[in-house]
Amino acid sequence: MNIKGFVEHKKEHLVTWRRQFHQYPEVGWTEFVTTYKIHQTLTSLGFKDIHVGKEALSSDTRMGVPPAHVLKEEEERALSEGVPSSFLERMEGGHTGLVATLDSGKKGPHIALRFDIDALPITESESHEHYPSRIGFASTRTGQMHACAHDGHTAIGLGVASFLAEHIEQLQGRYTLLFQPAEEGSRGAKSMVQKGWLDEVDFFLSGHIGVHFDRSVGDVSATSGGFLATTKCDASFKGISAHAGKAPEKGKNALLAAATASIHLHGISRHGDGKTRVNVGTLHAGSGRNIIPEKAEIQLETRGATVELNQYMVSEAERIIQASAALHDVEATIEIVGDGVDATSDEWFIPLIEQVAVKSDLIQNVIPKDVIGASEDAAYMINRVQERGGKATYLIFGTPLANGHHHSEFDYQEDVLSVAVDVLVRAISELQGNEV
Ligand SMILES: [Zn+2]
Ligand SMILES: [Zn+2]
Repeated sequence: MNIKGFVEHKKEHLVTWRRQFHQYPEVGWTEFVTTYKIHQTLTSLGFKDIHVGKEALSSDTRMGVPPAHVLKEEEERALSEGVPSSFLERMEGGHTGLVATLDSGKKGPHIALRFDIDALPITESESHEHYPSRIGFASTRTGQMHACAHDGHTAIGLGVASFLAEHIEQLQGRYTLLFQPAEEGSRGAKSMVQKGWLDEVDFFLSGHIGVHFDRSVGDVSATSGGFLATTKCDASFKGISAHAGKAPEKGKNALLAAATASIHLHGISRHGDGKTRVNVGTLHAGSGRNIIPEKAEIQLETRGATVELNQYMVSEAERIIQASAALHDVEATIEIVGDGVDATSDEWFIPLIEQVAVKSDLIQNVIPKDVIGASEDAAYMINRVQERGGKATYLIFGTPLANGHHHSEFDYQEDVLSVAVDVLVRAISELQGNEV
């Protein structure tokens, strides 16, 4: 296998794919066009076992699915953008993403790789300073942007798929490629895990472009730990509206309850056992200046170094939301719309990636153990593989970042795409003959 030649040949494809996905960002559970494009490419590569949407996900385990009317609008948009109705049916009701499998027919390891495909609700900067805007591949969709490199992850997934398709005669074992929807907000991985895709996996690899500011293209982290367990919730406050001048005493002010909750949520006592986080990210309330606000909503998240620490934050958050509601004599309801667990990669992968680096011109520096310090939906997959006796790792592909993740001018160097494909396909070839 001439991996060097393969990666060099794929370099331009990777950039083209990345830019195509970048122009058409779709947030979690609405990746209809994205899923269709991935399917088209995999089909053209010769993949036959492709499980789309409903076949790829456990429907009830999906979290934070948008309301039906939003999904309907998004499906209509996808139809108008060329997704055939027969294909849309397979994803109806927000069942996006797909899983492709490939079997060499020869005895060998079962290797699974996961690539997340969703975008974020951010309007991309039109500034000339921002590379995608300057070059002309910025988001065509106001309010949505690939600001976390999942456009690149999708392109890397197609690069790895190309390698498998072209080299399956020389490979052993079988392969599962998970193109996962709704990573942002920790909403999608669990539904793929629940469907059983990770149950018989010997080796699992996933990863992320960027993450750290001080890295160069060619820096690769072999393993990561320190994913934070997290819970995403929406809290709704229901009060009573009244005339603000004539009868303010008849009103029950939902806005004040939401504001009180927001301030006190940020005051939850830290925990002595480890890292904890809380953030109230949105607050919407009221309908006019002379009306006592009847409704308010906040979107918040908690995190913790372990599931237990996160649960402490969730319990405190619930108590504060209910106490704030009681203080203002309104009602509060809390809905959990996403959750994630902690996980740690298997150190078994460190010598393997170091071995890979020796053979590669593109990998300059291997960081054995990285710490993420954020949450990652793949943690569910890592845990599942490890529970069933397999080995899992989460790599970081270094690149300078124009701005941080989730920023309207987020960007990375596109050379990182080739490095990531190089690492992953070399890891796959090293794993030949290995079975757990
Ligand atoms: Zn992100
Ligand atoms: Zn991300």
